[in-house]
Amino acid sequence: MTYGCRHLCNTIHFHQHFVSSCCTNVDGLILGYGKDNITSDIIKSKYSDFIEQLKTGEAPEICRNCYALEKDFDLSQIKEIKLKTFYISNWLHCNANCIYCVHKHLKDENNPITDEIKISDTYSVLPTLESLKKDGLIAQNPVVFITGGEPALLKELPEVIEFFKDMQAGFFQIYSSAVMFSDAIDNLLKSDITTELIVSPDCADRELYKQIKRIDKFDDVINNLKKYNSGITKTQNRVISKYICIKDVNDNEENLKAWIDLMHAIGIKNIRIDVDYDYPDKANSVIPSLFKTAKRYTTFLNMNLELTEMTLNNLKS
Ligand code: SF4
Ligand code: SF4
Repeated sequence: MTYGCRHLCNTIHFHQHFVSSCCTNVDGLILGYGKDNITSDIIKSKYSDFIEQLKTGEAPEICRNCYALEKDFDLSQIKEIKLKTFYISNWLHCNANCIYCVHKHLKDENNPITDEIKISDTYSVLPTLESLKKDGLIAQNPVVFITGGEPALLKELPEVIEFFKDMQAGFFQIYSSAVMFSDAIDNLLKSDITTELIVSPDCADRELYKQIKRIDKFDDVINNLKKYNSGITKTQNRVISKYICIKDVNDNEENLKAWIDLMHAIGIKNIRIDVDYDYPDKANSVIPSLFKTAKRYTTFLNMNLELTEMTLNNLKS
């Protein structure tokens, strides 16, 4: 029996302090540390050592508890490093302060609420990307997931986007607070490259926004959503507005419907409903009935409602 996983040699994830081979909630194979100028030679060597280890048939300690680890994995299908999927999330700084943020435990000197991120606050992903490009380790039409923190604050965001445009990227997905407008993100939405921008206003009024986000930027966010959404010509390019249900804050029909009405009024057609990670006992709460209400109401308004796979799985468990 040999262990392996489909992410090996085709996925790279730039985290806050390190770079790994995978996209999961475990660290997995660490390819290097952000400030250490990780070159393609280093990445090749790490992969080569790891694949030799897998050939021994031992389940790797670093992959323990990872859903992607497969028994009886055919290692011969890994022929070369061709990175197709890029997760760019090397900064956690943000200009919002959401009560549900998964990085809230870092909301101190590591993750201040800020209007600007300099490269010196984090590390640049560009030298590693250039090294991978030079050695031909990037697959055709890579797919790129950009999160954070807040991408619009990062000084090198336009260059990162340009890099992947030059590599003929096939898909971008970007998460943003939309507190600040980014021309680089807007240009992508209006380009030929399939792009999704996901923003979570979570409510339809300024006071509730202040309670959830702990900043007073509701009007800016709605205006930026409108700007991002206007003038998109390619149907696959989408602004997706998200509503994260938070216990005893916005988990009621009145607020949910008000948000759907507002998104409809400003022309956002694609909406997504999710649930706060910490929401207790989701399946036996008001959440399933809120989903049904949202489904009926968005069908009536001819909007596209998405429930994430993770949300549906949570409700089943
Ligand atoms: S099995 Fe999981 S942790 Fe291990 S390399 Fe694959 S995705 Fe990463
Ligand atoms: S916008 Fe995202 S990264 Fe910023 S505080 Fe909210 S959840 Fe965290």
